[in-house]
Amino acid sequence: ALLDGHRAVGQRGKSSLPHARERTLIAVKPDGVQRRLIGQIIQRFEQRGFKLVGMKMLQVSVSEMNAFTMSVCNSSVTVDVSVVKVSEDLLSQHYSELRAKPFYPSLLYYMTSGPVVVMVWEGHNVVQTSRTMVGTTNPTEAQPGTVRGDFSTHVSRNVVHASDSLEGAKREIQLWFQGQELLNWDCCDQKSISE
Ligand code: ADP
Repeated sequence: ALLDGHRAVGQRGKSSLPHARERTLIAVKPDGVQRRLIGQIIQRFEQRGFKLVGMKMLQVSVSEMNAFTMSVCNSSVTVDVSVVKVSEDLLSQHYSELRAKPFYPSLLYYMTSGPVVVMVWEGHNVVQTSRTMVGTTNPTEAQPGTVRGDFSTHVSRNVVHASDSLEGAKREIQLWFQGQELLNWDCCDQKSISE
């Protein structure tokens, strides 16, 4: 459950330091992975003071029907066997609100074109702050200093995903992660970062 700004009870049964436990889903999209930006993106969230509580690399596989639909995009994807493959259904749920958009087929193609790295970050106001750190959807308008403003130029290849609301974050985290894949752990500098 998302506990925004409430005191959390420590894993060992005693009261832990008070800290915000809001969580959000951040994903390095296939272009970000291809361009070796995973480390820089993680670094920004660590530096800001957020806590990583879950991370995995995976390839979303395309169904044959959609592979046909998107054949105009023409690409071959070679993925190491160690990369987890998941169904494209997950992606269609993730982007369910965009199904009617004209760019939806190309968005599915883009998101299945190579591995993605999905992460859950935790901390005070992390949903809203992450959106600010990531920048506007269209990199043309993204401020320098944001991920999209520093690393991308086109809306169709904007490097990173960040949940846009608390409700969206909760839904997306449940979609991409099993409960046991997320860790509750205490950062030693937590008290210096949020109270
Ligand atoms: P955000 O990712 O900033 O939350 P949206 O939810 O509106 O933005 O869109 C999801 C993703 O769809 C964008 O990040 C981008 O990859 C893609 N997208 C959005 N608008 C367009 C567009 N006009 N053309 C191509 N791709 C788009």
